[in-house]
Amino acid sequence: AFRAVVIDKADGEAQSVGFKMLDDVDLMEGDVTVRVERSTVNYKDGLAITGRAPVVRRFPMVPGVDAVGVVESSEAALFAPGDRVLLNGWGVGEAHLGAFAERARWKSDWLLPLPAGFSPDEAMAIGTAGYTAMLAVLALERHDIKPGAGPVLVTGAAGGVGSVAIALLAGLGHHVVASTGRLEEADYLKSLGAAEVIDRSSLAGPVKPLARERWIGAIDAVGGATLANILSMIRYDGAVAACGMAGGLDLPGSVAPFILRGVTLYGIDSVYAPKPVRIAAWERLDRDLDRAKLARAMRRIPFDDVIDAARDIVDGKIRGRLVVEIG
Ligand code: NAP
Repeated sequence: AFRAVVIDKADGEAQSVGFKMLDDVDLMEGDVTVRVERSTVNYKDGLAITGRAPVVRRFPMVPGVDAVGVVESSEAALFAPGDRVLLNGWGVGEAHLGAFAERARWKSDWLLPLPAGFSPDEAMAIGTAGYTAMLAVLALERHDIKPGAGPVLVTGAAGGVGSVAIALLAGLGHHVVASTGRLEEADYLKSLGAAEVIDRSSLAGPVKPLARERWIGAIDAVGGATLANILSMIRYDGAVAACGMAGGLDLPGSVAPFILRGVTLYGIDSVYAPKPVRIAAWERLDRDLDRAKLARAMRRIPFDDVIDAARDIVDGKIRGRLVVEIG
């Protein structure tokens, strides 16, 4: 038997969440069985555990979308017992039992060997949030936004995606503007490389079709009126990489930025990104992410605290990234 966080829900009733003992027979289909060592808390884990949005598509569910673990048994040629593996997304923690458990069974297609440049803690300090930040940076690079071209905005700055995005962009030489609701974290954001810190309320007001041109690029974890306002403020031919909805799923804007300023909106999905894209993103993280900054953004918590931390993240109370010590 092994310990796991289990979300359960009977038809028409409120969901329940707690630690339970599970057995191997409870595990779902897969060709690799993994002893989970480390996980992390992403915004989506908070949505799953609180039930605030319907991300869980099967009950009972073990939440947890990210893991580093050691292969215990494998029917797949790619992996052998003792290998250290990395998992990010693929519907794990949503449709397939996830990482907040001492054991898991997953499909080998979903697993990457843990990249050699990272310890298990570092890989989870990055996790889906950090790998998504990298995908967003890659989108801005595909748009040919070069360091020196102009300021680049990062929203949800003190959160997970935001913290890693700031460190990456600053490390590449961009002038980074961090938008936060926690101005008391200005020193933290500057230590990650932010050149300017602005109050997120300045982006939350009524949306005009076009506003003063401010940023050549942006990475947005917030959505809603914030994303609509950002689009109205992007410089001619600039781009936004949209990766989150911490402020809302809606997009209450106009087409004016697209048709009058040639602005581009890139959508970022980490969950079903194909393997070559993931490998490239982790290679770039290895090359470009300052490990001292990553350490500054990271805090370790014991497995016992993961449910409380998941509740805190959807309340915007978590700074940077959490690493969950599971086994
Ligand atoms: P997080 O650590 O909680 O960061 C979110 C940050 O957004 C918060 O720290 C806060 O930053 C800001 N925020 C929270 N509520 C807000 C509100 N009502 N209005 C404006 N700003 C608000 O979460 P995360 O793990 O970084 O994830 C961020 C977002 O990206 C989530 O929506 C998540 O679902 C999404 N995401 C998407 C993908 C993908 O594949 N597309 C992958 C990972 C995450 P400040 O306190 O600094 O303002």
